[in-house]
Amino acid sequence: MMEFKGKGVCSAIAIGHARVIKKQAPSVQKREIIDTEGEILRYLRAKDKATRALRDIHARALVEVGEANAQIFEIHLMMLDDEDYTDSVFSIIRNQKVNAEWAISVTCSNFAELMSTMNDSYMRERASDIRDISSRLISCLTGEGGAQESGEKCIICADDLTPSETVTLDKKTVLAFLCAHGSSSSHSAILARSMGIPAIIGLGDEFLESVTDGALMLVNGYTGEVVIEPNDEQIKRYEALLADDINKKELLKNLKGKDTITLDGTRISLYANIGGTHDIAEALFCDAEGIGLFRSEFLYLNRDDFPSEDEQFASYKKVLESMGEKRVIIRTLDIGADKQASYFDIPREENPALGFRAIRICLARPELFKTQLRALYRASAFGNLGIMFPMITSIHEVERALDICAEVKYELDTKGIAYSKSVEIGIMIETPASAIISDSLAPLVDFFSVGTNDLTQYTLACDRQNGLLDDFCDTHHEAVLRLIELSAKNAHKSGAWIGICGELASDISLTERFLKMGIDELSVSPSYILKVRDAIRKIDLSK
Ligand code: PEP
Ligand code: MG
Repeated sequence: MMEFKGKGVCSAIAIGHARVIKKQAPSVQKREIIDTEGEILRYLRAKDKATRALRDIHARALVEVGEANAQIFEIHLMMLDDEDYTDSVFSIIRNQKVNAEWAISVTCSNFAELMSTMNDSYMRERASDIRDISSRLISCLTGEGGAQESGEKCIICADDLTPSETVTLDKKTVLAFLCAHGSSSSHSAILARSMGIPAIIGLGDEFLESVTDGALMLVNGYTGEVVIEPNDEQIKRYEALLADDINKKELLKNLKGKDTITLDGTRISLYANIGGTHDIAEALFCDAEGIGLFRSEFLYLNRDDFPSEDEQFASYKKVLESMGEKRVIIRTLDIGADKQASYFDIPREENPALGFRAIRICLARPELFKTQLRALYRASAFGNLGIMFPMITSIHEVERALDICAEVKYELDTKGIAYSKSVEIGIMIETPASAIISDSLAPLVDFFSVGTNDLTQYTLACDRQNGLLDDFCDTHHEAVLRLIELSAKNAHKSGAWIGICGELASDISLTERFLKMGIDELSVSPSYILKVRDAIRKIDLSK
């Protein structure tokens, strides 16, 4: 028995036998060519064949994983047509008088190397796409295929899978896929999530060296654990987990596409919380009716400098386009406290949770704020956007934020840049101060969204990062619930709507109470959506 741990990118359990794919880069021999124009013709025929195959995969992906996720294959088609790539292949064939396979493999390593050293993470990820299309071209020339499926149910174990390999996996026979390498934001991971195939990445080289074809395996996509040749007790435990997982999936199947409505006919908006574009597929897969909280600060973390306006615009636009007409609430930068980025140069604070964070930074550094707002308003032309300000405590903060929004819109108007005129503006209710003066704040905005994580921390004076306080931090504390109720009453008095986007939104023991308060929207992690929908559909508010 051997155990490995990687990163689960699609939550599910699987029990089955391994099928190891040790992919070898297509073996390319250098050959001297006399008829170079004939070789170029050979390349063009292979390119035609690769294009047709990719069009088929794209069509299959549209059905399997939807338009947004299928886009990667459009990118591959564009790469196949890329002039620089083709010119490089042609010039190597003509100048070095070598075969097309060799010219492709040299071009591939040059382009992939260049891309993998770029600062832009998007461009870095394209290096694997270049390798993917190059192998496809070489296979078309040599007639050697990629990973073939045996038709028997199996757990695929590989070094890494390309997006096209992922999307062509047969869902009926592939129980799970396990990769020694890979990244959770890669397209393959996104595709796996949206296809619902249990997947774990980053299991390490030792994993691939240890697993043999046919070995019995246990896979836990929730925790990233893999067991090779398990003992009886582990098998029993996983069988129970699998049965539980299947029950959950049944629940999921039954509730997908159903309305989020109580027995007496009250409709609730059930949205997803996301941290970036990589979460969209899961939100859609779990049937999110909108995005209730996009924590935009994640765009600012794990990097050395501020994201540019265009970079932010691209992310916001992608979320908005992917969600179509559904509402997307993007929270402006909530940096500070537990989410620090050194390049902000925030001096060390004794109490960062009570310090220079969120809207306070944005109002103190309006240029920074305006860059984000410009990106948001530009993106608003592509969907149904709501902008939300975090950590509000006073009326003047909201008024100042609204003034800055007006300045940004004026600037866009003068430059003739399009934006939506119906962007909703909201604030987070996550400080006791904002809940207490919610009667004065509501007339200024279109909606409130209650951040119960911070509201609980600030109301109960319990640092949310401090594990020692778990016994004191009663998440159902009456003080917190009454502040939510007060905010709901004041929101509705002014014609604003109110949602909850903190963790309490997915606590189904409180769902009925929230609905009785008049909460209009709940925004939860994608994996909780159907559980909360199930709870809502069993509530009768008329009783
Ligand atoms: C909250 O405070 O409840 C919230 C949703 O915001 P975050 O958890 O990102 O602070
Ligand atoms: Mg918060």
